[in-house]
Amino acid sequence: MSKALKLQKGFFGEFGGQYVPASLKAALDQVAYFYEQVKEDPDFQEELNNLLRDYVGRPSPLYYAQRLSKELGGARIYLKREDLNHTGAHKINNVLGQALMAKRMGIRRIIAETGAGQHGVATATACALLGLDCLVYMGTEDMRRQELNVFRMELLGAQVKPVRDGAKTLKEAVDAALIDFAENYTTTYYLLGSAVGPYPYPEIVRDFQAVIGCEAREQILEKEGRLPDYLLACVGGGSNAIGLFAPFYADKNVKFIGCEPGGTGSQLGQHAASVSYGSPGILHGFKCYAILDELGEPGATNSIAAGLDYPGIGPEHSYYHASGRAEYVAISDAEAFQAFQVLSKIEGIIPAFESAHAVAQALKLAPTLDQEQILIINISGRGDKDAAQAFKLLKKE
Ligand SMILES: *Cc1c(COP(=O)(O)O)cnc(C)c1O
Repeated sequence: MSKALKLQKGFFGEFGGQYVPASLKAALDQVAYFYEQVKEDPDFQEELNNLLRDYVGRPSPLYYAQRLSKELGGARIYLKREDLNHTGAHKINNVLGQALMAKRMGIRRIIAETGAGQHGVATATACALLGLDCLVYMGTEDMRRQELNVFRMELLGAQVKPVRDGAKTLKEAVDAALIDFAENYTTTYYLLGSAVGPYPYPEIVRDFQAVIGCEAREQILEKEGRLPDYLLACVGGGSNAIGLFAPFYADKNVKFIGCEPGGTGSQLGQHAASVSYGSPGILHGFKCYAILDELGEPGATNSIAAGLDYPGIGPEHSYYHASGRAEYVAISDAEAFQAFQVLSKIEGIIPAFESAHAVAQALKLAPTLDQEQILIINISGRGDKDAAQAFKLLKKE
């Protein structure tokens, strides 16, 4: 197959691709080759499925939120409980898949980068489970703000490598990880945390997260005998959302709503809502809706939810938006924080601040629907990690 054709393969409409220096191409080709090897290998799939069942605790329940549905007086609301996974969020689905793939391909050294620390902790967990070496790049500013996650990674046997360049946050950590990967790819695998990055990562991450939507589809058919009307999920890079949406892609009556971090306003630096307030551009090696400054560099972002604080959105979501398949809405910090409290009080489920963005959209949408309609919210993670911040916010009020 020609290079050009191979590149086309990595596009969703005009989005995606591999806008990377030549030094990274060989490393990415190897990742694509690895994935080709395992994708349809029944042994790999069985090993992964066993781990998802016995280690992660899948399938996660699809729970009918009776009190919330009643309170809002509209649609029947179901919660897909990714918060009940081992480590408390959906990230483990993807990191286990990629780490297992790397191990089967003979790689013993895993590198990752992390901002808030959640992807670093998930990667360290998978590496401990599979007996792999794990090195996580992290800006020293992020290390200072997230010292407990640094400790968790170390407890799990990972090495956290401080990055002291520039603003000492996620962007610099990504750059450091990419340099390591380009230099060491024959012995090292770069484990990416969301449905972003150059080809083939967005497809790999989507496929490993699609377990969410595949389960939800079966579960709703069993409980309701029909497909849902709406799927709601929060979007940072977009992995939990694409994992829920993609298995329903061909079901045109199932509407998708991605809930973006609207932060405190629509000005640059106040939000991280790439579709709502951004525009198409090239970010971290792929084309997507992105928040860029005048120089085309990743712009400043802000969100109450650290896991949504990313200046872009995956290429498949970008295509869903451009083609009208999905709708993307901005949810403010205040709306998310309100929804965080509502779900806690009404259902006894404390959602992650990230997931609370999807809950907030449900609070707006459900009352406008009738009782025959069905809505599924992806609860991407649990809110224990956010309890201290919520406590401070409420005390201030
Ligand atoms: C990391 C994270 C997210 C955002 O990542 P996506 O790739 O957009 O899914 C959402 N929710 C939780 C709980 C997270 O930890």
